[in-house]
Amino acid sequence: MKVLLVDDSKLIRSMVTNMLQDIGHEVEHAEDGQIAFDKLSGGQAFELILLDWNMPNVTGPELLKMLGDNGLIKCPIVMMTTESAEEKITTCLELGASEYVIKPFTPEILQEKIDMASGF
Ligand SMILES: [Mg+2]
Repeated sequence: MKVLLVDDSKLIRSMVTNMLQDIGHEVEHAEDGQIAFDKLSGGQAFELILLDWNMPNVTGPELLKMLGDNGLIKCPIVMMTTESAEEKITTCLELGASEYVIKPFTPEILQEKIDMASGF
């Protein structure tokens, strides 16, 4: 699967990229929500987006709103959060995310969330 990984942390990008590549996915990075928006609005297509919550410039929830407003949610989006605050998660799901995963997570949990988001 072609995955867009959106996270401002170099460490998280590196860890999650290794996990995704180990299970056979192709990974492209965006360092914040604005970079991700530019890729998606520029016509780049992905089969899954993994999206961090806290980022400079454009945050995860702000990106969800921008994508939704522009009809650009065309694949499952899994939010990566550091907290399980129910209200925040509900907001993301309302804005168009399919699933969420709490950081830090194992490869097994990530796989499970990807499967759930992809409708398996
Ligand atoms: Mg972050």
